[in-house]
This record gives sequence, structure tokens and C-alpha cells, in this order.
Amino acid sequence: MTTVIKNGTVYQNGHLIKADVLIDGQKIKAIGTDLEGEETIDASGMIVSPGLVDVHVHYRDPGQTYKEDIKTGSQAAARGGFTTVGAMPNVTPVPNTAELMEKMVRENQKKGLVHILQYGPVTKDETTDIIPDYAELKKAGAFALSNDGHGVQSAQTMYLAMQKAKENNLIIAAHAQDDSLFNKGIVNEGIAAEKLDLPPVTELAETTQIARDLLLAQKTGVHYHICHVSTKTGVELVRLAKARGIKVTCEVAPHHILLTDSDIPEDDPYFKMNPPLRSKEDQAALLVGMLDGTIDLIATDHAPHAKAEKQGSMREAAFGITGSETAFSTLYTKFVKEEKVFTLEQLLSLLTDKPATVFGIKSAGLLAPGENADIAIFDIEHQKEIKEEDFKSKGVNTPFTGQKVYGETVMTFVDGKVVYQRGTK
Ligand SMILES: [Zn+2]
Repeated sequence: MTTVIKNGTVYQNGHLIKADVLIDGQKIKAIGTDLEGEETIDASGMIVSPGLVDVHVHYRDPGQTYKEDIKTGSQAAARGGFTTVGAMPNVTPVPNTAELMEKMVRENQKKGLVHILQYGPVTKDETTDIIPDYAELKKAGAFALSNDGHGVQSAQTMYLAMQKAKENNLIIAAHAQDDSLFNKGIVNEGIAAEKLDLPPVTELAETTQIARDLLLAQKTGVHYHICHVSTKTGVELVRLAKARGIKVTCEVAPHHILLTDSDIPEDDPYFKMNPPLRSKEDQAALLVGMLDGTIDLIATDHAPHAKAEKQGSMREAAFGITGSETAFSTLYTKFVKEEKVFTLEQLLSLLTDKPATVFGIKSAGLLAPGENADIAIFDIEHQKEIKEEDFKSKGVNTPFTGQKVYGETVMTFVDGKVVYQRGTK
């Protein structure tokens, strides 16, 4: 069976070109003009992109499937145009043995609509100082290591973990957080904490641990990746480290560039995430970091929760917001269409080839003959309101509901198969 996506604007190798894309079975057969297939999809006025890559999602499965499960999480990814995701290991049980990892990988393959890569934990239960057998985890299918949700508190533990990760050629993706400085904070120290009288989170909780880890990464030679960097100082430290030749990469989450602590309207749990929304100065530094290559990629930190867990005061509510279904459209609308901070090519690169390259994910993030037909088609001409009832995720915890955006996903293909189509349930 061959399908041709005709008349679209195709993102390929950093450029946008007018072309048709011919799919044959699971693979891309050709990209060019005047291509014919048994089935034709008209993509006039639309963007045809490699399926987006998100190296940071939380699927809560097993353990908390009332929040999300592998199926709904991957449906949300597909609706957002993502075809490859990296799932964090903070599930119950944590996949910290070969057996549990193998099971996790099997479940991801069986239930997932998109390619789900599985993180293993840096330490056994993400809060202990016991380092699991990384060689075994890698053999069982772990693609990288992370304790996301928790910082590694002991420098000695992180040092050993980095040595072992280096030996096994595994990336450590760190949620940089010193708990003693975080001190049970809720919102960023400054304007919001004062206005809402909520416990402040100092940026030092993030930046001191980044500084520590960069020195450990320099010593060990590990590939150290920082999850959701959110502070100006964090960006400056990474810039300095890269200039010194330290093997560091980092990601930014859409909400940290779309919003600041000044945008928190009231004590509203949909604005509670960790790291918290930072200041305008931090936001500006993140954008500069993205433009000069200090920040390598965008990752959503898709963190679904049940409604009851995101009600009442921010004091009691869970940290985190969903991201899969709103990332492309919100970023495109604000930064490409309205404010022209990025070109569409730059934005797509941060969501496709950059994450695939940083994490060494083969056959993701690019459109080329012979590659997997992982493709997303976006409608950038029509405006659409973000509505709760449209979410495929079980979580509706996002502050972006009600926004009018461009860039809705029209279709998503994984291995040549349609996994999402606009207007279908
Ligand atoms: Zn995190």
C-alpha cells in the first residue's frame, strides 16, 4: 500500500521545501515533486514534519493509571504530533532490574501508539543511594537514566552513578534539585511568592546542583543532560561548561518559555510545576540560550494528574502540567507566528532532529527515503481553541486551556500507520 502526502511544505534537513512525501508500507519511499501513490492526502497549506520527539514524558503506568496510562499517554503524544517519546521511570514499581525493565519495554511496545523509549532510574527507587546494575538495565532496553522528579542529593552517589553510566555509555538526564534549598517551596522566589503568600523556591535549588553536576561530569566524562533547565544562571553554567568541553546537553520545557511567574493569576494549581515558572529575566535568558545553541532541545515534561489532585490551593496540589497536546501549537503561535523569535525551521529542529541527535535515537526526527514513516502534519493556517474535551490524555491539568492557537495536528503517522487523525475519536 502506498500513500502520497501531496502539496505540503516539508521540513527536511533544516529546510522547508514544497514537496510530496511517498510512503510505502512502514517506510518513506521518496520525497520529491509529482509523486503518485495508491492513496492521496492533500496537505496544501500544511506543514509536513518528521514526527516530533519528546524525551520527557510521565505515563504513570504501572502504579497510577488513574492519572494516565501507556495507551492514553501515547494517544496524547500522537495528537500533539509526537512519534517518539522518552518515558520517565517514576512509576510503581520503578523498572530497576532487568526483569522489570524488560516488562516495561514490552508493555510500552504492546500498548503504545508511538515509539516509547524507557528511562531506567539513576538510583534504585529514585530516592535511595543504591545504584542499580546499569549494564543489565541497558541490555533489557533502557535508553538513558533519570531520577526525574528527584535530584540526586548525595554528590558521592552522583559521582559513582556518572562513572558507571560512562562505562555503559548511558546518558544521565538529571532533575537538578537540592532538596535542602528547595525547602518545600511552591512557586518561584519573588513576585508570585510575595503576591500569593506561598512558600518560595529559590533558583539556588536548581543552580547549585547543576554546578556540582557539571564538575562531576567533567571529571567522569559522562554525557550529562539537564532536564527542564529553568533559570538564567542555569543557562550561563551550561554555556560555560560547553565552552570548556564538558559533555553536557539540556532541554527546556514549553511552559518555562511561554509563561513566567507574573502570569500566575491567583492561587491556581494549574500553574504549579517543578521547576516553577520563573521570572521574565529567566525566560529571556532561556530564549537566548535556545537561539545560541546552549539549550539543545525542547521536551514537554508531560505530567498528567487527576482533577482532584489539581484542585484547591497550590499548597496541597500536585506538581506538574500536561504538555504533549499543546506544545507545538502554543510554541508555534507565540514564538513563530506572533513574536517571530524563532523561524519555523528552528522550532521544528528543537523538536525533531536535535533531540534525536542528542539522545542518539536512530531513525527519528528526520524525513528521508528509507527511514521509518514517522510523520506529523500540522495546520498552521487555522486558529483553534484549546479545549478540555479534545484532550486524549487523562490529564487536563494545563494552564493553556482556552487559548486560541495555530498549528493543530491534522494527522500523525507512526511506521506508516495513521495513529491520529483530526476530527476522529
Ligand atoms: Zn523533573
